[in-house]
Amino acid sequence: MNNNKNLLRINIGFLIAQSAGTYREFAFDLPELAVEDDQELIFTAVKGSSIISRAQQGLLVQGNFSAETPSTCVRCLNDFQLHIKTDFDELYAFKEENATDSGLMVPENGYIDLKPLLLEYLLVEIPINPICKDDCAGLCPECGCNLNVIHCEHSGHITQDERP
Ligand SMILES: [Zn+2]
Ligand SMILES: [Zn+2]
Repeated sequence: MNNNKNLLRINIGFLIAQSAGTYREFAFDLPELAVEDDQELIFTAVKGSSIISRAQQGLLVQGNFSAETPSTCVRCLNDFQLHIKTDFDELYAFKEENATDSGLMVPENGYIDLKPLLLEYLLVEIPINPICKDDCAGLCPECGCNLNVIHCEHSGHITQDERP
């Protein structure tokens, strides 16, 4: 299940040798991305790109990703695929004195692994109260039916337009 080939591990050794301002864009399309310390949480259809630029003080990583994750709507209790998006900018510094609050450093092995960073950014995009759609009608407080699917006798007021 766990694919050893981490497609989010990028060889950046060549960029370090370039002059400031040089950049490369990397595109990603991963069928799934597992959160190692949470078996129930998995991201699917992880797509996006990352521009890595050689800056004076390090490598600037600009990411732009979208993904889906299985979720349950708090209004109608249906399971659905939650679509999330994230954008981030992070500097991997050459020297500790130039590191940002994230404390990211250009790894000595010449590879930047975007996986932990991307997971961190995707996780904060998951709402505490996910809703399957903005206008989700939820469940009827009387009989508990899913008002997105059927109109029960308790939701009569919505038939106003049909009155003669
Ligand atoms: Zn819903
Ligand atoms: Zn009802």
